[in-house]
Amino acid sequence: MEPTPNFADPTDALSSVPAAGSRRAVPVVGHLRFYYGPMDCGKSTLALQVDHNQARQGRRGLLLVHLDRSGKPQISSRIGITRTAIEVHVEVDLRDLVRQRWACGDRVDYVIVDEAQFLTPDQVDQLAELADDVQVDVYCFGIATDFRSRLFPGSRRLFELADELQPVQVDVLCWCGLPARFNARVQDGDVVRDGNTVLVADTDDTERDLHSVVATTTVRYQVLCRRHFRLGDLGPSVAAHGQLQLT
Ligand SMILES: [Zn+2]
Repeated sequence: MEPTPNFADPTDALSSVPAAGSRRAVPVVGHLRFYYGPMDCGKSTLALQVDHNQARQGRRGLLLVHLDRSGKPQISSRIGITRTAIEVHVEVDLRDLVRQRWACGDRVDYVIVDEAQFLTPDQVDQLAELADDVQVDVYCFGIATDFRSRLFPGSRRLFELADELQPVQVDVLCWCGLPARFNARVQDGDVVRDGNTVLVADTDDTERDLHSVVATTTVRYQVLCRRHFRLGDLGPSVAAHGQLQLT
């Protein structure tokens, strides 16, 4: 909105708002955006929607993913939509991916990254560079905190660098009905608070995490409110699991 202070002196050198004439000189840059939320809040669905909207405008983009829930190089949403994506491992320089497209004569107007919490901090820096230097719009989607309630390193770097931070506004609820912001790792019915940060439970690729081969059969994740995450309380449905129903 245009600031309209009464009787403001347009030559006021102390004003932090640039005058209209100088605003035109602001360089064109891309934006780095981070959409974050707990598991199951619809981030992948939103990522695919953003891609659809951008593509409809005639823009060309790259879809990147790190460890999709399907274990395949694709972005898959829980409501059944799937798009092929490029799997980015920790050693991939994301600037090189864009340069390779250029070398093939392709434009890259935007980049979408799903499971962005698994990016390395260096890769987040590379995305910021793409936004600043070659005007690529970057849309990252991911989980902010891990099962210990600590920021993922990639998410931390995104919080530090992103132009825009957006919580994904699909309510995910704890069993008690409160908003669930925490992703608890559950093993044999108990909340566990230490172990490897990255543990993909729903993939067959056991080579990915040899130490977790045994655990993959019994590990699952459950979203909880802060109080029940703190208490490690998984709710009555879990306690009743395997017991006779009393109703
Ligand atoms: Zn709760």
